[in-house]
Amino acid sequence: MTKSTVNQSKNFFELNFDQLKIFFKEDIGLEQKKISMRATQLWQSIYKKGLKNINDLSTLPKELRDELNRFINIKKPQIIKKQKSDDGTIKWLIKLFDNNEVECVFIPEKTRGTLCISSQVGCTLNCRFCHTGTQRLVKNLNFSEIIDQVMIAKEELNDWQEQKKITNIVLMGMGEPFYNYDNVKTAVDILKNKDGLNYGTKKITVSTAGIADKIALAAKEIGTYLALSLHAPTDEIRELIMPINKKFKIKDLIEQCKTYAKITKEKITLEYVMLRGINDSEICAKLLIKIMAQFPCKVNLIEFNPWPGVNYLPTERKEMEKFSEIIQKAGYISTIRRSRGQDILGACGQLRTESLRKKIN
Ligand code: SF4
Repeated sequence: MTKSTVNQSKNFFELNFDQLKIFFKEDIGLEQKKISMRATQLWQSIYKKGLKNINDLSTLPKELRDELNRFINIKKPQIIKKQKSDDGTIKWLIKLFDNNEVECVFIPEKTRGTLCISSQVGCTLNCRFCHTGTQRLVKNLNFSEIIDQVMIAKEELNDWQEQKKITNIVLMGMGEPFYNYDNVKTAVDILKNKDGLNYGTKKITVSTAGIADKIALAAKEIGTYLALSLHAPTDEIRELIMPINKKFKIKDLIEQCKTYAKITKEKITLEYVMLRGINDSEICAKLLIKIMAQFPCKVNLIEFNPWPGVNYLPTERKEMEKFSEIIQKAGYISTIRRSRGQDILGACGQLRTESLRKKIN
């Protein structure tokens, strides 16, 4: 066995599977015919079984374990705050290795558990109803920092082997995933890897505020469910609440969604946060139906969660139901998403950390 002369410990989570194989070859000096097997063993033990100490990987020869201990570590960032809501929702505040902070939220339901993870610290898009949007962009998360959130949540929930607790993963936390496209793509590849976390494409949803020029590419390269944060049926209203609409108009989004649905053969979920007197009228419902008629989709009506300093009010429940009925009567799926974790500011659009602005990755 030959060894790299550079004795610098790499972090396992910063390697995708191909990079892990290169690590076995170049840093450990393992013979070619054993590389795939050993990389798979390590990968499976960490992602499937939650291995925390390489010495516990008894299927590897001791000499190899010693080498791994010298050249790789499986450290994860630390949780600095954990809050549990009355409804069972859990929010973790995580301090990354560079001291930035990121949040992720676990939402347990009767038949499934959804983990909502972040793709950026802060966000550039400033959607007016979103608390995260009031925090300037600090940085794009690298793929390991996206995966770290999943691993930390799995460890907290002791959710190994059969994935009974976290059944679904949504990239709907802080940030716009398509503004951190490459890292999100690599993270989703790791989530999907059958030897590891093994989440199927139908267990993962990537949510976008409507970065139209990335949608078709994502259909081909990422291929998960797509959620589009539409939130308004006209450019006028959308521009008022989502400045990104100045760049990408609803017409562009419709065209891209047609392509996405065609490639993935799946319905797109339209997210629609209901703001009293802004986007919740009967006319808005009818205009939304016109959009929904153009590509396979369903709509999720979201209760707005006010946060300190926001100017919007939530639409009343009965008005939400009326809005929903109009859409259903037109033959489309419309659900009202119950707000979860409101008491811990863990609900949609409420995530915000105190990281200071630094340069973007
Ligand atoms: S809703 Fe999403 S895209 Fe808009 S500001 Fe908030 S985190 Fe950013």
